[in-house]
Amino acid sequence: MFATPELVRETTDERTDTMDDAMRAGAVWERVRRRLRAELGEDVFSSWFKSIEIDHVDGSAIRLSVPTRFLKSWIENHYKDRILARWEEEAGRAVQIEMTVRSATLRQVIRPKPAEDARAPVASAGRPQAPAMATTGHEALGGSPLDPRLTFDSFVQGRSNTLARAAALQVAQSRITDPVLFNPLYIHAGVGLGKTHLLQAVSGAAQAAGRRVLYLTAEKFTFGFVAALKNQTAIAFKEALRSIDLLVIDDLQFLQGKQTQAEFCHTLNALIDAGRQVVVAGDRPPSDLENLDERVRSRLAGGLTVEIGALDENLRFDILKQKLAQHPGFEVPAAVMTYVARNVTQNGRDLDGAFNRLLATNRLTSQPVTIEMAERSIRDLVRVAEPRRVKIEDIQKIVAQHYNVSRSDILSARRTATVVRPRQIAMYLAKTMTLRSLPEIGRRFGGRDHTTVLHAVRKIDGLIGQDQALNEEVEMLKRRLND
Ligand code: ADP
Ligand code: MG
Repeated sequence: MFATPELVRETTDERTDTMDDAMRAGAVWERVRRRLRAELGEDVFSSWFKSIEIDHVDGSAIRLSVPTRFLKSWIENHYKDRILARWEEEAGRAVQIEMTVRSATLRQVIRPKPAEDARAPVASAGRPQAPAMATTGHEALGGSPLDPRLTFDSFVQGRSNTLARAAALQVAQSRITDPVLFNPLYIHAGVGLGKTHLLQAVSGAAQAAGRRVLYLTAEKFTFGFVAALKNQTAIAFKEALRSIDLLVIDDLQFLQGKQTQAEFCHTLNALIDAGRQVVVAGDRPPSDLENLDERVRSRLAGGLTVEIGALDENLRFDILKQKLAQHPGFEVPAAVMTYVARNVTQNGRDLDGAFNRLLATNRLTSQPVTIEMAERSIRDLVRVAEPRRVKIEDIQKIVAQHYNVSRSDILSARRTATVVRPRQIAMYLAKTMTLRSLPEIGRRFGGRDHTTVLHAVRKIDGLIGQDQALNEEVEMLKRRLND
């Protein structure tokens, strides 16, 4: 891995030295990685450092490579000093770090300089031309309105959206003259996980920075194109489309019709080739957009694709907290926040709904918010996750099944690792998904003491805060139990 072409010409001794150096460097790098992981947490580590490889070392310099320009610039801007410091500590001497991009899968498109950039102002049929895209373009092209509340400030960062948010932020903050790092940026996620929020945040921020932005849903794109064809303004429509700096398309899965898709494909190509940024969101990865033209699919897949995962309980809590902060004077006890975050599990829309109902009930009745009130007013939203309904037996059964142990193993006194962890997870789920008390849960788990249950709950709680894979596993078990 550290071999360089020069190596071939070296004598055996020199080669052995070089290999030793390389191996030492490899070991140092492993230690540096381990420390970064410990310092920054699994979350941050896997977002930014997992894909870094060490490509070359000589006495005073190391070369690290990453798969994308985006990662390169992010790491250079945010983490290079930290890597350097750790390297110095581990290796006992200072080095220089050079970062490179491993492959050319991401096109680096350099924007034309604004001066030589022949952008025709948007020509919309019979309308005087206004200087700013913000109004003309949006109108001519049927752009969707931006919700001023959907900003980066109000977008809460959690483990499931770190990468998507960072990529979106990077797009929003790049200036017209900056090179485009990844194009298109494709964000996918299930319903209510924040795609539209993020897309609108990008659009709003870029627009505020003076870039010509068009945000529209794929449906509107389809509709606009069909309408333009009917009115025979298709050429103006296409030109208008292609004269913007940033095209943002939401809900791509709704892009319909062969001709619309072909037009979308042209637009995508034209914009990307001209170095304009395109951001797209859809409800699934490009490869799963069955109805989409193959060329569009591969073009989308050629940029940066990031997924937003399910909102975990911490993120749900933080989103609620963020909403609360927007309503000064409205008081919700922490226990109620926890109750809502724990039980409204589906997506951000249900969280919105739950929050709005608490607010409305409070305003309309002047009653303080209590758990009881919350239970009553959001009953239908927690229906699927009704805590009373999940039975401890079912938890034991499903957890046992998942970890390939028997239910009696879980209830037994056995203390082998293969049984202990599933047992702790089952206890954790029993505590968080039912209203049973610790002693009661202890009894149901083979007559254990309540402190054993408490220990298990704390243990798993702590672990899922650090271990993304375990966190997903537990979320998956919860979903199965809620089905
Ligand atoms: P999608 O477009 O993926 O279906 P939305 O962006 O419409 O989802 O999100 C649904 C609701 O949840 C919105 O009110 C949004 O503001 C909120 N939401 C989702 N994720 C976050 C987040 N990370 N921070 C703050 N609000 C969020
Ligand atoms: Mg949406």
